[in-house]
Amino acid sequence: MKEELQIRELEQELEKLRERNEELEAQVSGYKDSVSNLEEKLFQYKGLIYSSSALITFLRGADYIIEFANMPIRKVWGKGDNVVGKALFEVIPEVKDQGIESYLNQVFYDGVPYHAEGLPIEHRVNGSMVKSYFDFSYMPQYDSDGEIVGIGVVAQDVTNRERLNAQNQKREKEFRELIDFMPHKVSLSNSNGDPVFFNKSWLDYTGLSMEQLIEKKWWPFIHPDHLQKAKMDVSESLETGCELDMELMIKDREGDYKWHLWRAIPVLDEEDKVSSWISTSTPIERLKEIEQEKESFLKLVSHELKTPVTSIKGYVQLLQKMMHGKISETKVPVEPYLGKIEDQIERLIVLISEMLDLSRLETNELKLNREHFQLNQQVDHIVQELSDIHPDVQIEVQHEGSFMVEADRGRIGQVLINFLTNAYKYSPENKHIKVKVHQIDSKFAAVSVKDTGIGIKENDRRNIFKRFYRVESKNEYTYSGFGIGLFLSKEIIERHQGKIILESEFGRGSEFTFTLPLNN
Ligand code: ADP
Repeated sequence: MKEELQIRELEQELEKLRERNEELEAQVSGYKDSVSNLEEKLFQYKGLIYSSSALITFLRGADYIIEFANMPIRKVWGKGDNVVGKALFEVIPEVKDQGIESYLNQVFYDGVPYHAEGLPIEHRVNGSMVKSYFDFSYMPQYDSDGEIVGIGVVAQDVTNRERLNAQNQKREKEFRELIDFMPHKVSLSNSNGDPVFFNKSWLDYTGLSMEQLIEKKWWPFIHPDHLQKAKMDVSESLETGCELDMELMIKDREGDYKWHLWRAIPVLDEEDKVSSWISTSTPIERLKEIEQEKESFLKLVSHELKTPVTSIKGYVQLLQKMMHGKISETKVPVEPYLGKIEDQIERLIVLISEMLDLSRLETNELKLNREHFQLNQQVDHIVQELSDIHPDVQIEVQHEGSFMVEADRGRIGQVLINFLTNAYKYSPENKHIKVKVHQIDSKFAAVSVKDTGIGIKENDRRNIFKRFYRVESKNEYTYSGFGIGLFLSKEIIERHQGKIILESEFGRGSEFTFTLPLNN
């Protein structure tokens, strides 16, 4: 009986154990499931890390033992997968002293993550040192007790981006320097037209700093007469996005206004919206001067043409009256009138040929027909011609030697005629001219024409060789001419490698000399 009871108790105990066992088995299979789940996840994460293009490694302990390193980072290191288990600086010792060790220590000992952008690192690839740039993140890794056990490293090779950045910076610097170097005034404004940049030429012209100019904008420098139009044109351009193009006067650091051509063009973004404005102000003072010179030249030419034509007309009318018997030839002889007509026609021919030469010079078509000739003979010939035309003039010629030159005989004659007619023209009182053919040095012969006429003031001496320049006098048209004879003479002589020398005293007379290379 007692034994039966014990057996039943044992059976009950066994039953409990079985139930417990079943419970445990269910638990174990649950654990197995979650372990295989975890394994699955771990596999996926590893796959993710391995296939990532980011450079990833995990470093354990204070020796930074590589516990894991994905392919991209091993490629950068130039190593295979045998790096696992080795200390980082054993694998890539060259980076240790480039700050890497101190960044790692900071993370490992202080627990402060470290991030860097575009950090330059020199590392060894296939035996040679290469400089690359990296974005870095070093993050402390903790165990379940919260202790730092290692560092997770995620990096990206950004060498191409950094090189591109460096190239862009270099290009921007070059452009800035180029813009600063330009003589034009260049400025940049935002889409509202507010200036953000002025080049050096602007700073030099106004004597202000970039900050002052940005604050003041352009308006205080624009001539009051042009200000209203400038403001209107600018706001129209800002509204319509159309280019700006106007001539106005801009004040310089001395307070003087100078003519400029102001242009502005819009810069469009990808959506074709105005993102900024580039404006240039080009000095056109010289162009304005030329415009004015041309205007007065036209006035002068029409006057110069009109005078001989009017007098020719007068003489012709007189001769016609004679022909029709209204005036008898005995009263007014024909010959002097014909001579006067010829003079005036001669004057017209000179005028027209000077104008033709001028346009030939401008289009670079003034050709020289060089020949070997004796300068003395050509001088005598021209002097003779001029004395025939102007019997009232006394020309004294002095030859200090005999000089051969290789030059355009006609053009040299033209220069001498210009000197002689000027000497004649600008000596209203005493028409006594001295011509000297002489030698300047071993290489140059010279012809000087000396008069005792009105002379030239020092200030004018520099300018009379410029195109259209005539010395201003109270009665401008007393001496005919339109200020290109000396300009042409200078061009002709310089094309022969010679030069023109002028000595003059105002009120006492002038001496013009041209030189030519000797060719004996
Ligand atoms: P133009 O046709 O006006 O004479 P030029 O070019 O020959 O043109 O001369 C330019 C200016 O130089 C003249 O207008 C005159 O004022 C001055 N000039 C030239 N030659 C003399 C001279 N011998 N004496 C005084 N002034 C002169």
